[in-house]
Order: sequence, then C-alpha cells, then structure tokens
Amino acid sequence: MQAVYVDMPGGPESLLLRNIPRPQPRNGQVLIKVHATALNRADLLQRRGLYPPPPGESDIIGLEVAGTVDTLGLGVKSSWKPDDRVMALLCGGGYAEYVAVPEELLMPVPPNLTFCQAAAVPEAWLTAFQLLVLVAQVKEGEVVLVHAGASGVGTAAVQLVRLFGAVPIITAGSPEKLKMAEELGAAAGFNYKEESFAQGVCDFTGGKGANIILDCIGGRNWEQNVSCLATDGRWVLYGTLGGRTVEGDLFGRLLSKRGHLLSSLLRSRNLQLVLPHLLPVIDSTFTLGDIAEAHRHMEANKNTGKIVINVIPQ
Ligand code: NAP
Repeated sequence: MQAVYVDMPGGPESLLLRNIPRPQPRNGQVLIKVHATALNRADLLQRRGLYPPPPGESDIIGLEVAGTVDTLGLGVKSSWKPDDRVMALLCGGGYAEYVAVPEELLMPVPPNLTFCQAAAVPEAWLTAFQLLVLVAQVKEGEVVLVHAGASGVGTAAVQLVRLFGAVPIITAGSPEKLKMAEELGAAAGFNYKEESFAQGVCDFTGGKGANIILDCIGGRNWEQNVSCLATDGRWVLYGTLGGRTVEGDLFGRLLSKRGHLLSSLLRSRNLQLVLPHLLPVIDSTFTLGDIAEAHRHMEANKNTGKIVINVIPQ
C-alpha cells in the first residue's frame, strides 16, 4: 500500500510517499480501507519529531480516517462486515491506504456524509463534545466563548453549543473566519487581532461575562480570559497555540471570580447522540501526494474548518 513516511523529522518536505506492506489486523482489530483522512495540529508536531506515537502504535502520521471495512481480525465481537462505511479515531497510521484499528474505535458513517466529510468528524467533534458535555457540562442558555472559532474543533463546538441550547460566541483572526463562524451559529465574533475580545464579551453579556471559555490558545490570552469569565465560570484549556507560560496574578484574579480552570485531552468517546446533527466544515481537500502542501496550508493558519486528504478520489 501507499503511505506517507517521515525519514528525517523536519518541514513539510520531509513527508514522503512510500510503498510499504499492508498492516495485518491483530486480535480484536478491523482493517479499514482508507478513503479519506484529515489533518490535525498534532500531525505537524509529529512530523517535526516533537510528538512521538504511543509505544506499540503505528509510526505513520494520521489520527482519523473514514473508509470501508476490509477484513476483520480474529476475536472481533461486533457485527462489522466488509464494505461497511466507518470512521475512526486513531493513535496513528491514518496517512495510508489501509489502517488496522481496535473495533471499539469504529463508528458508522452517517448516510448523509461523504467519506471526506466523515474523515473531518472524529477528532474535531469528539473533542468539542468532550469539552462541552463531559468537562464544562454546558447548560441551556449559557454563553460559551470559543477561541479559534473557525478551526476544526471551533466549528464543531459552535454547532454543538447551539444544539445544546446555549449561546456560542467566538474569536478568530480574520473577517472571513468570523463570517464563517457566524454562518454556523455564532451569535457574535471578535477579531482578536483588531480588538479586545474581553471587552466584546463583556459588552455582549451586559457585563456578566462568558459562563464557559473553550481555550486552545493558553498563555497569551490569560488576562483577557479571566477578565471576561463570568462569576463561577468554567475555563477549559485544551491547547496552547498561544504559549504555555503565564506571568502575573492569575490565581488572584481567578479566585476573585470563583473561576474553575479545567483542562482536557481527547480520549475516545461515543458520538452517537450527536451524529445525526453534525455538519463537518471542510476547508480544502488534497491527495496523499500533496501532503506537504496540506501541512504548509495548516501551518500558515489558512484553514477554516478541516483539511482533508482524499486517499481514494471520490
Ligand atoms: P485548526 O483547525 O488547525 O485551527 C487552529 C486555528 O487556531 C488557526 O487556524 C488560527 O486561527 C488559530 N491560531 C493558531 N495559532 C494561534 C496563536 N498563536 N494564537 C491565536 N490563534 C492561533 O486547529 P484544530 O485542529 O481545531 O486544533 C486547535 C487546537 O486544539 C490545537 O492546539 C490542537 O492541538 C488542540 N486539540 C486539542 C485536543 C485535546 O483533546 N486537548 C484535541 C484536538 C485538538 P485564527 O486565524 O483565527 O487565529
């Protein structure tokens, strides 16, 4: 099969297409014929040698795929059969024509989604679902500030916040991204490059602040986050695109709001509840042969929604 390999960690040019043996499904695993995969920020780190796969997992990059069931390994208990349309979250191995996946990680592709759309679902939607439901425990009517509202996770979060009867507001770095998020349901959007988002949130909420902040930026935003967090609000950190260090009176300011600072890393969660409602946002599609170009596009923050790799052109 064809797969993308990294011989020497480095820039996008280090991503090389190779012919390698097809993986064999181990006990309890299902072999998926990959029709599409999608990019994640973690892929950029792995390419640079900064995010090694967990021990025993494939060293091929790629954390999610959509495709069809090819063969079942011994001991598979579920009722999957060849040609079933499936999508899955992976520990690795997605940038390839075949991947072997533990059966528990397979989900059916909703009939209304293409493989490209389905490949854009697992990471972004499971992350957003986990952040909102399991970590922040969002309630109807609450105001949720979503940073990077036009990102893969952000576009999913905006739609889920609406689905749960709460009010999404977002930040983004361009008018086009703000517009896209508003089309998906954001009630307001703030361009953090041109204005104080904290002031925008306070104006929008009549001074009360956001009940929940979904934050993949971290360091750079902490003062604005704490100043626009509602009393008793939940601030959920799930990424550090804007830095990992904090200087200043974070604890004092958080305490004065009785704020909850939470953090989260994705684990496999069941999406069945929301599967019928989701609308994956696809920024662009590339082929396996164009993988370096796809990485450059993400690294330049050009994507609105997900970047998908069409492994078998549809
Ligand atoms: P994405 O679609 O690639 O979008 C990321 C966006 O963040 C960029 O397009 C850019 O949008 C904004 N951004 C990038 N660098 C920034 C900076 N220094 N300051 C402010 N904004 C910046 O990303 P994604 O796949 O949704 O992932 C978003 C983050 O969540 C990543 O850090 C990823 O590692 C993390 N993540 C965490 C989990 C978890 O379980 N904890 C799971 C999935 C993803 P603008 O142009 O609007 O600034």
